[in-house]
Amino acid sequence: EKEELLKLVDSKTETNDGVHVELAANIGTPEDVEGAVRHGAEGVGLFRTEFLYMGRNELPTEDEQYESYKAVLEGMDGKPVVVRTIDIGGDKELPYLDLPKEMNPFLGYRAIRMALENQDLFRTQLRALLRSSVHGNLKIMFPMIATLEEFNEAKALLLEEKENLKSEGIEVKDDIEVGIMVEIPSTAVLADQFAKEVDFFSIGTNDLIQYTMAADRMNEKVSYLYQPYHPALLRLIQNVIQASHNEGKWTGMCGEMAGDTHAVPLLLGLGLDEFSMSGTSILKARRQISELNKADMEQLASAALKAKNTEDVLKLVKEFTER
Ligand code: PEP
Ligand code: MG
Repeated sequence: EKEELLKLVDSKTETNDGVHVELAANIGTPEDVEGAVRHGAEGVGLFRTEFLYMGRNELPTEDEQYESYKAVLEGMDGKPVVVRTIDIGGDKELPYLDLPKEMNPFLGYRAIRMALENQDLFRTQLRALLRSSVHGNLKIMFPMIATLEEFNEAKALLLEEKENLKSEGIEVKDDIEVGIMVEIPSTAVLADQFAKEVDFFSIGTNDLIQYTMAADRMNEKVSYLYQPYHPALLRLIQNVIQASHNEGKWTGMCGEMAGDTHAVPLLLGLGLDEFSMSGTSILKARRQISELNKADMEQLASAALKAKNTEDVLKLVKEFTER
């Protein structure tokens, strides 16, 4: 079976009626690139850069970060690489930053909120990213965006650093796509407005589910409410995908849900353009997708959007899979 799957390493991902989607890998360090390539990733859909900051005693320098981003871009050999700017806070701590203890860390000072307040730290990362852009197909993504203002502010800093680098005579690519994670319901709801400003969306279901259902993703007492297949979540996902397509943009997903074989037909039916998952899931997903028909999946998705609860959605998915 493994050998059969390995034959798919170099092929594109297509449904049996010829619709192409991209299967990308989630990575945390440059060392993960080798595995992603070996498992046939068509790109990196999420590089969680916070790992560059963790397990050490001080901030990584601009040069250190530049070397890491460059290694990933070169390792992916021109394939798209979505790098997410620092997402510290919530469940991820950085002892040397002395972040405040909070009552509700997941509703608190994390990710883009922290980055916009710590401009030195953020500008250093943006400069390293911009410098690395000449080594491949870089896309930059901001995490935990809740308002358009946050996106505009982050993008303005990026453009400022780009001009700074250019005036220092350092080469930067001109066509770098800049997108956002959709992890917060406010952003999913106003996706039509965001879609005019961003180049792409990547849906972070790990957080989007917890914020939509108000169920802490780490709390077992409420884990029964943490429901990826809840119709409320599916409607948010649909809203995001539709909004992006209306503006000629694309939507990916990099939460755990993207790698769940039961979710794949639903998400394809909703029109998702890119799935980013653990490298080891890619070949199986490629084979699964090659056996599926887009029109059938669209029917499945539209039925699921009308369902009243998770149980009904799962029933539809099961019927579809057994058919
Ligand atoms: C997500 O929220 O789905 C996501 C991919 O980000 P993280 O798991 O790093 O919070
Ligand atoms: Mg997240």
